[in-house]
Amino acid sequence: MPADDKPARNSETRAHPRTRMIHGQSRSRRWDYSHHVVPPITSSATFRLESAARGAQGFCDFAHDSADTHDPIYIYDRLEEPTRSMLEDNLAAAEKGESALCFASGMGAISAALMTLCETGDHIVSHRVLYGCTYSLMTNWLPRNQIKVAFEDLTNIDALRNAITPRTRVVYFETPVNPDMTLIDIAAVAAVVADANKPREPMHRIRIIVDNTFATPHCQRPIEFGADVVCHSLTKGIGGFGTDIGGAVITSHDLRNRLLMYRKDFGGILSPKSAWATLVYGLPSLAARMANYQKTAHRVADHLVRHPKIERVLYPGLETFPQFALAKKQMRDTKGHFTPGSMLYFVLKDRAGDGKVGERFVDWIAQNSYAISLAVSLGQIKTLVECPFIMTHSAIPPDEMRRRGILPGGIRLSCGLEDWEDIVADLEDALDVV
Ligand SMILES: *Cc1c(COP(=O)(O)O)cnc(C)c1O
Repeated sequence: MPADDKPARNSETRAHPRTRMIHGQSRSRRWDYSHHVVPPITSSATFRLESAARGAQGFCDFAHDSADTHDPIYIYDRLEEPTRSMLEDNLAAAEKGESALCFASGMGAISAALMTLCETGDHIVSHRVLYGCTYSLMTNWLPRNQIKVAFEDLTNIDALRNAITPRTRVVYFETPVNPDMTLIDIAAVAAVVADANKPREPMHRIRIIVDNTFATPHCQRPIEFGADVVCHSLTKGIGGFGTDIGGAVITSHDLRNRLLMYRKDFGGILSPKSAWATLVYGLPSLAARMANYQKTAHRVADHLVRHPKIERVLYPGLETFPQFALAKKQMRDTKGHFTPGSMLYFVLKDRAGDGKVGERFVDWIAQNSYAISLAVSLGQIKTLVECPFIMTHSAIPPDEMRRRGILPGGIRLSCGLEDWEDIVADLEDALDVV
């Protein structure tokens, strides 16, 4: 029976976001699999068409709103595919957006969002500290299309206002910022951008893109504060188990069709097998994992703050966090509880004065720690540590990094599900030797 001939289950509308992330839509036009408790995995590059007319209708529907009036006609995985589409419905709901599209990686998602919103000669205002590959995209590749990027300190709203030019199309940032946990006030940025957009034609409007990878929709939903587009590396907190690479763009209906066309032609789709893992394991367990990661992060932060070998600890849950008031305003779960997240950044005192204290610290962990792994990535069930200065952010020239506050002694820690005492004990041991 076609899915839309059955009504949705009557308690769906009152279900909380956590329940929604576990169950998805009780009736989906994407795929009727009502005898399964778990969505079945699909793996079909192409789809059987009953007639040429149906094929023609499918091509006609693609990236057109006409598709919303009947059950989808699947043609080819690179266009649309049921498992990925179901994940997209759930991601859009989790982020309070209208629409989501998944890509092969977080960078696939970020590049798609930027390239669909900017053309040759356009301008982007970005926060000055960013994930290393996003920085590299903006400094190595976008300039080839004469797309210029102004790197500003977006905690300074006047700096943002002054950086906007008539060709600005995007304001881009992460919050918390990878890796230093700086928060950007999304509502304050949105107010400046709304002002700048007043005299503009819709085509020339500035859009706010927020990379919400660190917080995940459990801790913060940027669209609620006025962001237009949210990007994710699904590889991180949402994927949660570290088995698959993926990315997502969540946005309003008006950008969906352009993004679909971009994805079809540039081709960086999320494979349905990876979508399935995120749909079945990652997103449904996000709220439970985050709640536990966060407890550990808080305990670790409380512990490190008092350590004599540590200069500073940046965790939004600490009352000493410089932007604690903003953290409490912006980082909340859907029930309103303060959710400062699973990530923390701390700076080791460089007592030897050789700029290598961070490297020694993570090396010691790599060789001796059981509960903490030296590895990039984050948001996973295993606790991961890294030194951004020499690893994830090394695309930024060292002098620039220092100027922007990323130091050789800076350590990024992503808390997992281990017993928190084991994480603290391993950190203590490493601190003893540096
Ligand atoms: C990891 C990461 C990305 C890139 O995601 P991939 O899935 O590795 O392509 C982008 N932004 C942030 C904040 C990240 O941590």
